[in-house]
Amino acid sequence: MISDERRKEVAFDDSEIERFGKHLMLKDIGVKGQKRIKAAKVVVIGVGALGSPVIQYLAAAGVGTIKAIDFDEVSLENLQSQVLHGTRDVKRPKVASAKDKVKNINKNIVFEAVKEQLDASNIEAEIEGYDLVIDCTDNYKARYLINDACALHGIPLVFGAIYQFEGQVGIFNLDGGPCLRCQYPSPPPAGLIPSCAEGGAISPLPGIIGSIQANEALKLILGIGEHLNGKILHVDSLYLSSRIFKVERDCHCPICGNNPTITNVEDIDYEDLCGLKTTNETPVEGFTPEELAKRIDNGDDITIVDVREPHERAILRFPNAIVIPIGQLVRRQKELDPNKDTIFICKQGKRSELAINTLREAGYTGPLYNLKGGIDAMKDIMFSHEGAWL
Ligand SMILES: [Zn+2]
Repeated sequence: MISDERRKEVAFDDSEIERFGKHLMLKDIGVKGQKRIKAAKVVVIGVGALGSPVIQYLAAAGVGTIKAIDFDEVSLENLQSQVLHGTRDVKRPKVASAKDKVKNINKNIVFEAVKEQLDASNIEAEIEGYDLVIDCTDNYKARYLINDACALHGIPLVFGAIYQFEGQVGIFNLDGGPCLRCQYPSPPPAGLIPSCAEGGAISPLPGIIGSIQANEALKLILGIGEHLNGKILHVDSLYLSSRIFKVERDCHCPICGNNPTITNVEDIDYEDLCGLKTTNETPVEGFTPEELAKRIDNGDDITIVDVREPHERAILRFPNAIVIPIGQLVRRQKELDPNKDTIFICKQGKRSELAINTLREAGYTGPLYNLKGGIDAMKDIMFSHEGAWL
């Protein structure tokens, strides 16, 4: 991955020799390997749960150039698993917090902090000229965008994902190997499963998965060992089991197959691909959290339907809501009164929208409303009303 010419351009000072002593004494790394690490240019997309271990280990290992991309700011609920950030960083851009941390770990490296929301119009400029991309994002839209851009530019991708107690790591677009779409041609329908951002995960899980991503990245840079090219490692942290399954390159793959149909990321509507766009002709009507709170305070005769998963409801129960999982909605629509305003709620307002569309398709005619932004947007109001509503 790093040519001998690039390696030979790298020099170390005395402090670096001391700093990387534990690498230099390894037969598979040594001075030549450490120079390759210093010459490497890596893009880390997502500076959250997976990005935290990945960035810290790559910086500590001496990767010469790290570009970190994230548009988001640190929030209190991030701190449980995003160990790169601390309490004082809340409300700061994640990339700024990361920059401070990295400076303290190893100030000899170039750390490029990019506060930007990646999309089809800007991703190519951000990854071009880099050796490796590490996907540390938490949603399908970003994953497919990153995969497609890396496949089109021939940049290897170290993929990582976490969900609840389980995680996956894989390497795509390396030496004619498969891409993400060879295994999963398109994302699952939105709403049917919570995204990782909605689904939750046990605190050390991203540390485990992200550390494996960083280790795979270093092995690729060094050209040593056996890596996960064309394979996906699945780790179950609850039962401490793991397995590796093979991913074959699919000759019908829309991006890396023999007759690709995707030749430019700007041709793909990633919002639409991931079902994030409302395609329904009649858009779903919604209440803001304030409007819903007012209806409840007024004692209006309304029905509130909670479509969240049981573990999500356990975190924060919505008062006076009836619970109907999306899969049971059509069968249980008799429980809803078509003469009453019915408001659907979920964590972020996407699955509830899907629930409304599902009911409409099934012929339900009563008035249906969505809680805009979901319970996440209503948390503060709920906490301030809790006593009055119970
Ligand atoms: Zn493919």
